[in-house]
Amino acid sequence: MASVGFIGLGNMGGPMAANLLAAGHAVRCFDLVPDLVAQSVAVGAQEAPSAAAAATGVDVLISMLPASPHVEALYLGEDCILPAIDPSTLVIDSSTISPSSARKVAEAAAARGVAMLDAPVSGGVGGAVAGTLTFIVGGTADALARGRPLLEAMGGNIFHAGDAGAGQVAKICNNMLLAVQMTGTAEALALGVQNGLDPATLSEIMRKSSGGNWPLEVYNPWPGVMDGVPASNDYDGGFLTRLMVKDLGLAMEAALETGAATPMGALARSLYAGLANQGLGDKDFSSIQKLFD
Ligand code: NAD
Repeated sequence: MASVGFIGLGNMGGPMAANLLAAGHAVRCFDLVPDLVAQSVAVGAQEAPSAAAAATGVDVLISMLPASPHVEALYLGEDCILPAIDPSTLVIDSSTISPSSARKVAEAAAARGVAMLDAPVSGGVGGAVAGTLTFIVGGTADALARGRPLLEAMGGNIFHAGDAGAGQVAKICNNMLLAVQMTGTAEALALGVQNGLDPATLSEIMRKSSGGNWPLEVYNPWPGVMDGVPASNDYDGGFLTRLMVKDLGLAMEAALETGAATPMGALARSLYAGLANQGLGDKDFSSIQKLFD
């Protein structure tokens, strides 16, 4: 069993650390919010007095922070933790951040002889609690082999996307496509209903026809068409609109850096930002359906 440092015990990190503990790993944890540390200690973690203390002398260090600036500050900023990390420690950052930030941090780690993976996740808080997250990993195959047992304790599918930063690229490509599919599905459903069709009947026709897609299969945005999805629960739970806005922003950043054309992604980002500005940032992203009501 490994000794693990865990930094960032929020909605995702808290349950991920709990799953490592349940699998028998020793976890030393740190968060800026003492209550969150206390919650992890209550399920068996050891408290670290600082981020550097969580990072020192462990087999694997995992971070799960809000965004690129937090990750860059932790690993590259003034008083950063890199000098406290032993070269034998594998670092895994599971935050969703820009590919360029991920590469910058991995390069700085490599310069100190520390192997690092970017391993953003898909699956949300439900997946973090259930231990069924999908990890989309960038870094060397050797580093992934070292980290795999820990990732398996927190998730189901583990994909190796490529070198450093590739996990972040794959994650934002997937979420951009998801946003475009969800928006198109909501638009088509509204068009059908406004022309007299029943949303459930239309959903079934499109699901089995050439318009079939993931939202129609398992995440229908029209209230009442599907049981157990956020649309049938006043768009509560699920993947928050504000997190989709964040991921689409990262996709746009990556497109600007490389000159890639992403007209559908750009439109989806504008629509989702508008939705968040209308007070739906903390609702599920399928609430994009409301734009077409
Ligand atoms: P969160 O805001 O709930 O948790 C982040 C935690 O990091 C907070 O507890 C904060 O106090 C802590 N933190 C920030 N800076 C720190 C520092 N320097 N040292 C120690 N702790 C620090 O966010 P979350 O929902 O857990 O998401 C984490 C990451 O996972 C984000 O990048 C998010 O985009 C990604 N993600 C979230 C979801 C989701 O459904 N919540 C799904 C997939 C991916």
